[in-house]
Amino acid sequence: MTRTVGIAALFGLYMILSGITPINADTVWSVETTRRQVAFSFDDGPKPESSIPLMDMLEKLQVRATFFVVGHETQANLDLVKRLHDQGHEIANHTYNHRRLPALSETEILSELQQTNDVIRAATGESPRLFRPPGGQFNTKVIQLAASLGLTVVLWDVNAGDYVLDVHRFPVKDESRREDGASFSQSVIAKITTQSKPGSIILMHNGGDMIELLPTIVAKLRNRGFEIVTVGELLREGKPRIHSVWNDDHVPD
Ligand SMILES: [Zn+2]
Repeated sequence: MTRTVGIAALFGLYMILSGITPINADTVWSVETTRRQVAFSFDDGPKPESSIPLMDMLEKLQVRATFFVVGHETQANLDLVKRLHDQGHEIANHTYNHRRLPALSETEILSELQQTNDVIRAATGESPRLFRPPGGQFNTKVIQLAASLGLTVVLWDVNAGDYVLDVHRFPVKDESRREDGASFSQSVIAKITTQSKPGSIILMHNGGDMIELLPTIVAKLRNRGFEIVTVGELLREGKPRIHSVWNDDHVPD
């Protein structure tokens, strides 16, 4: 244990002296915890047609999740976001216009983050603490500007790949779909239930076919002894896990 800590400290010193920014040190990919907990996170929206059935399903399953909402869609659905919050879900920042942040100026990035904080506070009465960049794309500037607004950058270690399922919002080429869609469903269920470990943050999207898969996914995770919590709850029980390998797992939206 002491030896591990010593090596980690030496590595940190090396990173500082060599001028390499340990970019993953400032982002949360998963959480180191002694509890058998995983967090559900849903990106994008909210949109009434998909978020209300999702919210109803989560209520039925007694699951609380983290919703990374888009600011302009929150502005158009303040009551819906308030309902999500009132049902115990955690509301987090996913920028105002869902733009790829590394391409923007500092002023634009700050505006994307601040406007979303403001509209979430208008809906829920609370400022968000967590932020996920669209497409999982960020750089040191994005992390620093988010931190200046009290936001922690949250990524994921389990990607459901459900954006392939949701063909209405994430159009895919016809040839990449199986006729009955069953193989996609099986793949999403398998990814989540086999890749999850204590402290995992699971990436899903707000809407689409995911809703129909949730009863199976939740049952399988609970059978494996997992409790499903929000990202914020996970972070209260443990500390961010730093991944040594850059995760190049981009999502299309
Ligand atoms: Zn997104």
